[in-house]
Amino acid sequence: MPEPSSHEFHVTLDIPALSDRPILDLVFPAWTPGSYMVRDFSRHIYDLQIARNGTPLPCERLDKLRWRVQSEGRPVRVSYRVFAFEQSVRTSFLDQDRAFLSGSSLFFLVDGEQTRPCLLDVEPPASWRLSTALSAVRGARHRFSAAGYDELVDQPVEVGRHRHFAFRQGGTRFEVAIAGPTNADIAHLLSHLRRIVEATGALFGGFPFDRYLFVIHALPEKGGGLEHACACTLDIAGMAFEDEKAYQRFDELCAHEFFHAWNVKRIRDQVLGPFDYTAENYTRLLWFHEGFTEYMQAIILLRAGLVTPEHYLKDLGEDWAKYAGRPGRNVTPLSELSFEAWIKQYKPADNYTNRAVSYYEKGKWAALLLDLVLRRATEGWRGLPHLFRRLWQSHGQRGRPITVGDVRAAAESVGRASLGWYFSRFIDGTAELPVPSRLRQLGITAQARSPAQAEREDRVKARRQQGWAGLSFASGEAAVVKNVVPDSPAWRAGLTFRDEIVAVNDHRVDASTVARRLADCAPGQTATIAFFRQEILRATSLRLARSPERKWTFAIDPAASAAQRRIRDGWLRGF
Ligand SMILES: [Zn+2]
Repeated sequence: MPEPSSHEFHVTLDIPALSDRPILDLVFPAWTPGSYMVRDFSRHIYDLQIARNGTPLPCERLDKLRWRVQSEGRPVRVSYRVFAFEQSVRTSFLDQDRAFLSGSSLFFLVDGEQTRPCLLDVEPPASWRLSTALSAVRGARHRFSAAGYDELVDQPVEVGRHRHFAFRQGGTRFEVAIAGPTNADIAHLLSHLRRIVEATGALFGGFPFDRYLFVIHALPEKGGGLEHACACTLDIAGMAFEDEKAYQRFDELCAHEFFHAWNVKRIRDQVLGPFDYTAENYTRLLWFHEGFTEYMQAIILLRAGLVTPEHYLKDLGEDWAKYAGRPGRNVTPLSELSFEAWIKQYKPADNYTNRAVSYYEKGKWAALLLDLVLRRATEGWRGLPHLFRRLWQSHGQRGRPITVGDVRAAAESVGRASLGWYFSRFIDGTAELPVPSRLRQLGITAQARSPAQAEREDRVKARRQQGWAGLSFASGEAAVVKNVVPDSPAWRAGLTFRDEIVAVNDHRVDASTVARRLADCAPGQTATIAFFRQEILRATSLRLARSPERKWTFAIDPAASAAQRRIRDGWLRGF
């Protein structure tokens, strides 16, 4: 990185003599494991030279990511530059302050040689430090070894003037690299991180690594996380630590990515490692790898004492209200949402909300449901933590991939019950997840109220919440339609995605006033709508319906029976 401000890494790849290979295919990854979208990283390669002792070798470009080299079994040097100016957990980045190396967007693989050990030399600017979980080679500055290409690109490398912390838990060393400005209390973040690590280790009975690295990028905006076998990268909004909620969001992200060190990195579908870096790797298990992790992150925070059961139930009720209002939640089975992630979830069309739902979100509710089913079947003694521990021991720890059949078998063995109905209805089918009724069986109150009922203090406000058009709007100044719920009043009035509503009942509206002008109308009343569609002014009218939206409140039921309390405590407080 001799010119950090150019955002270009200068990369040299030395391939040793491979006497049995007169021809080498150099391949540049199309995607980053953990982020299921084809990104074609080769679009950032420049000045590619393939040579031996400075003499260019005969070579042919086969397609967007493959180069074929006549190496005659002798050594080859490949040098190139990579433009890296996208700050995300899945892309490399370089500027005057720091560098982030995400191997799949930086390094070629030699086709057929992925299991060959690699050495990585990093040459950062003089005053920069380096953090990675790769093994350092003794006696050489910034030289690291990897067992193969998979490990090389699975170990992020942070370089710059970031802060670096370390702690031990059991026999494992944990390191934390924090780059970028933040108003967070770092000691507070680290103490939470320790408790998350401890609770997760307790669930699985120890750690499957000697060293683990948390790379934290404090950025202007939140960017999410990405899991690795011995590390994770967390992009957080650095200056957002203004309330407890911000720390809770940090805890959730950490717990999620750390849980992945087991679920998806070691307890995993066959296709998720070793990877095919050149194309989509299709799995029907993302609801399990991501959705169940999304659920388990909350269980970990409960076990770590970072969230109380009461607080958890409050958040759960608010989240259920959002989920239960999604029109596309029961259209496509979870297993198919997973399989099609590459072309649907990560390339969403305008109708995504009506025809699909995130496998993270629905998978989380499917996980909760399965936990409740298992807890009830075992009088509170066993649940999803036991299922994960079992799959870890039977598969992850032994390097055996899992199938959906293995998940089912583990669940049936934990619950000592037949669970085919759960998988056919909720994983391969599209039945509504009966979360509120299952919660009530466990001594939890689950109450639904209309928006008008939920507004208890102000009768005028309550009355204004009764009407419903079925519209949602994109962020911005203009009232641009983001979604129209199928068969809603707006749908029947012919409104569609991207229409820009400019007046309701002849009153001019924008994004901040359109909902208020619609709320002037009671259910049954008609509103005239003026809108632009492709620059042409049009008009329609819609008759408002009574709002089908519901707010949900989940809470501990003080009147629960002793048997219900036992199950509930097993779920919320036990392991
Ligand atoms: Zn995840």
